[in-house]
Amino acid sequence: MWIPTHPTLIRQRLEARIRQLAARGPVLAASLVKIARRCGRPGCHCNEGALHVGHYLSSKVAGKTQMVYVPVDLVEEVQGWIAEHRRLRQLTREVSALTLAQIRGHVTARKRRAGRS
Ligand SMILES: [Zn+2]
Repeated sequence: MWIPTHPTLIRQRLEARIRQLAARGPVLAASLVKIARRCGRPGCHCNEGALHVGHYLSSKVAGKTQMVYVPVDLVEEVQGWIAEHRRLRQLTREVSALTLAQIRGHVTARKRRAGRS
């Protein structure tokens, strides 16, 4: 992301992003994966090679990968919740970078003022 150096531009960009920084719905910090597996039931067709394909949410909880089954009718909605998390994460990064730029600008302006006197 391009960061402006002018304090007014920094502030305007910062305020615009802060306004967007609100969840529009559920937020999911996980990734959706498709897994094909055998169920283990004797006589099931999956023993012949046609595996059961299911969607799972993969997320890290206390450093451990956790898998949660997602029913097929929820998959589309879940994808939206994951996209919402990505949007907020990206926005947070930008807000953080602009806040840093604001601090740097503040220090630069103070030095400039001090140099003038
Ligand atoms: Zn099976």
